[in-house]
Amino acid sequence: MPYVSALQCRECKRQYPVQPIHVCEFCFGPLEVHYDYDAIARVISRERIQKGPPTMWRYQDLLPVDGENAVDLQTGFTPLLKARNLGRLLGLDNLYLKNDAVNPSYSFKDRVVGVASTKAREFGFDTLACASTGNLAGSVAAHAARAGMKAFIFIPADLEQGKIIGTAVYGPTLVAVKGSYDDVNKLCAELADTYPWAFVNINVRPYYAEGSKTLAFEVAEQLGWRLPDHCIVPVASGSLLTKIWKGFHEFVDLGLVPGPVHTRIHAVQAEGCSPVVQAFHAGTTHVRPVRPHTIAKSLAIGNPADGIYALRVLRASGGTAVAVPEEEVAQGITLLAETEGIFTETAGGVVISALKRLAQQGIIRRDEVVVAYITGNGLKTQEAVQQVARPLLVEPTVASFQKALNGR
Ligand SMILES: *Cc1c(COP(=O)(O)O)cnc(C)c1O
Ligand SMILES: [Zn+2]
Repeated sequence: MPYVSALQCRECKRQYPVQPIHVCEFCFGPLEVHYDYDAIARVISRERIQKGPPTMWRYQDLLPVDGENAVDLQTGFTPLLKARNLGRLLGLDNLYLKNDAVNPSYSFKDRVVGVASTKAREFGFDTLACASTGNLAGSVAAHAARAGMKAFIFIPADLEQGKIIGTAVYGPTLVAVKGSYDDVNKLCAELADTYPWAFVNINVRPYYAEGSKTLAFEVAEQLGWRLPDHCIVPVASGSLLTKIWKGFHEFVDLGLVPGPVHTRIHAVQAEGCSPVVQAFHAGTTHVRPVRPHTIAKSLAIGNPADGIYALRVLRASGGTAVAVPEEEVAQGITLLAETEGIFTETAGGVVISALKRLAQQGIIRRDEVVVAYITGNGLKTQEAVQQVARPLLVEPTVASFQKALNGR
């Protein structure tokens, strides 16, 4: 781990050794990985990154792992597509989609779990665990299988079938908890004190969170080593949003892209669980927890761990926050599928519907470079759009086909 110098408290800045810990003993602030950036600056370059593998591991100098022995499902370096059709519809000439729906377990969570599982193995754990809103479950189960580790996965009992089966298939111990994600998370925080397991988003969370930075790095590299003007980011705990911001700053500070960081980061949630959006518009610095009632289950965290840091990023970056009405989530999914051929899950539906609003409100101007983060795959949340499944039903004859076609 040549470039990690310590864990550091985000609040009081006290430093801790690199251990599976996540909270400051003095002020209970969250711990964050701290690097020796001078040492990184001496080795890193665009050429070095480009010579790396076509995966998230090309940015390993900026990840908190030793690396020789990563738990590697070849995650990342996912497509950044220019969205000409959707862009034309929304009046945006430079709209890009970062398609993380095509990762190994079909969501961006493979990035964070790739780092967390590698770090857990380096610490000597033989068991991975997590509290999940859905996508983390599948990713942890897949990485445990790949690493030959055991897995205990805790999910809310009312999760979509696609996510339950898409987790169970990897053979973990899957525990369905009768409660919300926030109940599951509270239970896991207690279990983490008792069981010697690496809960990827609890006791090894500082390492886990760093994996999200690769969604900033890749976008910057794929845009030709420059930063976008706007990013649309779906928010659950708020970790992804804060790490995209951190990643952009690291690239500028290391001279890999021109600065300063001018990207405006916009947070998007579904109305039925939008504590960060509400706090942003109320002008508060803290987030008041809510009880989630939303179709976007992957974003259904009522008490987001990184909510206050996400709010700081929104304000520092000049971004804004959008809550999408529940009925517009499915519309966002079908709009993206029909215009660009990408089938995303409910979180992506939130992103696309929010993007539409930001364009209509003139917050994003026509010529600006916009990246919408598509973080999960639609095959896992098919319930959300089942109304589209109305094929023309015909007899196997030309006449029957023509009759059905005319009657449509
Ligand atoms: C987990 C998740 C997010 C948001 O993650 P946080 O870092 O917790 O804010 C976004 N999209 C999808 C599909 C997710 O599964
Ligand atoms: Zn502290």
